[in-house]
Amino acid sequence: MARAHSTAGFSCPLPGISSFHGYDIDLDWAVDLIRKSGSRLVGLQSPEGLKRAMPALARRIEEITGAKVIISGDPCFGACDIDLQLCEAVDLMLHLGHAKIEEGPDNVIFLEARMKEDLEEVVAKAAQILKAKRVGVTTTIQHVHKLGQALEALKEHGIQGAIGPSGGRIARDGQVLGCNYSVARALDAEEYLFIGTGKFHPLGIALATGKRVVVADPVSGEVSEIDTDHMLRRRFAAITRAGDAKRFAVLVSKKPGQKRMNLAHRIKALGETRGLDMFLVYLDNIEPDRMLNLGAEAAISTACPRVALDDSAKYSIPILTPPEFEIMLGQREWVDYRFDEIE
Ligand code: SF4
Repeated sequence: MARAHSTAGFSCPLPGISSFHGYDIDLDWAVDLIRKSGSRLVGLQSPEGLKRAMPALARRIEEITGAKVIISGDPCFGACDIDLQLCEAVDLMLHLGHAKIEEGPDNVIFLEARMKEDLEEVVAKAAQILKAKRVGVTTTIQHVHKLGQALEALKEHGIQGAIGPSGGRIARDGQVLGCNYSVARALDAEEYLFIGTGKFHPLGIALATGKRVVVADPVSGEVSEIDTDHMLRRRFAAITRAGDAKRFAVLVSKKPGQKRMNLAHRIKALGETRGLDMFLVYLDNIEPDRMLNLGAEAAISTACPRVALDDSAKYSIPILTPPEFEIMLGQREWVDYRFDEIE
């Protein structure tokens, strides 16, 4: 490396690993790929939480490789959300902070960003409130490299930790996405431990499995138990409100890993059989102002499940997931409420 310590925000504690903003990334691997592929123009895409580090990373790559770098300025919500236009404009695209979930353009390289936090302490704390002797252990991609520490910590407390297998959209054993909990469902454990931040993933695990979920947050050091009641009440209220609507927008995402066009057509046809006015809307970022002029009284989102389940407070109209629309029409019982997952 030409100037290994010259750029703000970077240090190289291990050979091949660059550390910035609390994350480790394998920059040497990426640099090697840029060199071997002879790329002269490189794209950089990252989620919002890593954006602040992108100018420094771009400068660093330019210094080391001599290639020019362009940063994607659009929002990025996941590995489902590749900036296709930038991909076409560059020789190689580095997509940071996510693991690959499906086939996409050949020139995209996924560069995982690994959080440094050790897991022993917070998992030992969580073990105090776990009730089962065999527990399914899940996490997000940022912590997946430290799952071994979690299993050891559980073992010391007489608990056997089990990790579900990768496959399909899931790149790593034990990893969950906001739209996919297959690693948890595969285990059929009595209880689950989620290691990570935020409530959305553990709520998804609880609703996808119907089991008790304990959260161990390695950043705050806090542990808690997930309660699905509040979310289910909100979803029941949204379904009830949507039941009064006659004009429904069926939202289809342009993002490659969120686009469920066949499902959208099925939902549209289903509503039409009940005499509802249904129309498909194709869009990139789903935002409240995009729907103001369409005159929809309610919407069904076939895009990322977080749109309906996490962001609904931003919208003046009710937004349902496809399984919730089925409940609204009486095609599915409320007791069979299903978390919307993308397979
Ligand atoms: S669809 Fe949503 S939850 Fe799934 S990877 Fe994309 S942003 Fe994440």
